Parts: sequence; structure tokens; C-alpha cells
Amino acid sequence: MSQEEFRNILVVVAHPDDAELSAGGSIARWTREGATVRTVVCTNGDKGTKEDISPFDLARIREAEQLEASRILGVKETIFLRHRDGELEDTRAFRNQIAFLIRHFRPDTILTHDPWRTYYQHPDHQAIGHATFKAVVYARDHHFLPELTYAGIGAHHTKNLLYLNTREPNFFVDITETFDVKVRAVCAHKCQIKNPEAFEKRTRQRLEDAGRAAGFPVAESFVITRMREG
Ligand SMILES: [Zn+2]
Repeated sequence: MSQEEFRNILVVVAHPDDAELSAGGSIARWTREGATVRTVVCTNGDKGTKEDISPFDLARIREAEQLEASRILGVKETIFLRHRDGELEDTRAFRNQIAFLIRHFRPDTILTHDPWRTYYQHPDHQAIGHATFKAVVYARDHHFLPELTYAGIGAHHTKNLLYLNTREPNFFVDITETFDVKVRAVCAHKCQIKNPEAFEKRTRQRLEDAGRAAGFPVAESFVITRMREG
């Protein structure tokens, strides 16, 4: 079953590796089916280590690893917003930044973090989930950003929002054919994945469990919100 409704996809995530960890198999599948996928990485990931490395060097390494991961998945473009890791807030300025990207790239589908995930999640994930959800509305209603509208960057309606890494999924993507590509893309983040074999084993188990709920051998899971126009 191909997923024709996902043709122009924007993935908005906090850190280098989030897109691959949460949706790498789905992204690889959609690009194989001809979809255009762009990944927006909002922070520079400069706190993602326990090793003795400067945050500046770490940010540089993680960007290079992200570009390689995107290449493996067939992502058309990777956009680095380079906010500082762990310090994102759901501000009006940040929402505007995401809304501009939505109006510019005009996606039918956006993937982002689930901001309502209970009990534990990274604060950047929460901030981005909230900001992106609001940015979808800012992008859609032209009086939110009149300066963009008058500059010719018109309002845009996004049809589907898919939330990542959610506890109560209602949408599953069969990634049996692209599970290996996902693993390669995640493992391109060499500074994060120190033991690729253990990662693959653990991930296969988890995604087989997810697939069981939907009747697929291996699946990634999401919450989907379909938004009607008007
Ligand atoms: Zn993250």
C-alpha cells in the first residue's frame, strides 16, 4: 500500500538523530515512493554527550552526521536552525520561524514531536511540538503573518500532522522494507550510537511489537491529525 497523501513532507525535530530514531523507516519508504522530504533540525545538539569534547566541536560533528543520515534516507534538504540544545522555548518568534518554513515549502504533511507526551520527555521536544502545532495555524491563516503575505509568501494549509514517539498511536507505517535503511541512518550518528548491533536488536524488537498492533511485521507508529480546510 503506497501512501499517496504524503508527497511533500516537512520533518521538524529538535536534535540531530531525532528524525531517524522516530521515523527513519517511514521517511525512507516515502522518499522511495517519490515523496519530497525536508528535515528541519532546530537545535545544534551541542549538549548530547558525556564525553570530554567541546560543545562547538560536538555541534560541528553532529551536523555532518545529520547530513549523512539525511542522504541515506533520501531527504532532499536538511535545514539547521542552530538554536542552543536544551534551551528552546515555545515563543512567538520561534513559532514564526517554523511558520515561515511551512509557508515557504508548502508541505501536505508535517512530522514533529508529541508535546503532550506524559511523564517524561526532553524539554526541546515539548517546546517544538507546541510551537509547530501553533505554526501550522499561523501559516494557514494569512492575517497571522501579514508581512509575509504582503511579501508574496502566502498562507498555506497543511493537511496532515504526524506526532512522533507518542504513547497512544493511531497510525502505523509498515517499514519492513526499509528497516535496514533506518538502522543505517541512525548509526550514521556515530557520536550517539556506540553499539550498532545492540541498537539494531533493541529497535527491531520494539518496532515488531509496534507492528503487531497493526498487523505489520515491523512498523513505526504515530498519532495523525488530519486537518480540514477552512
Ligand atoms: Zn531529541
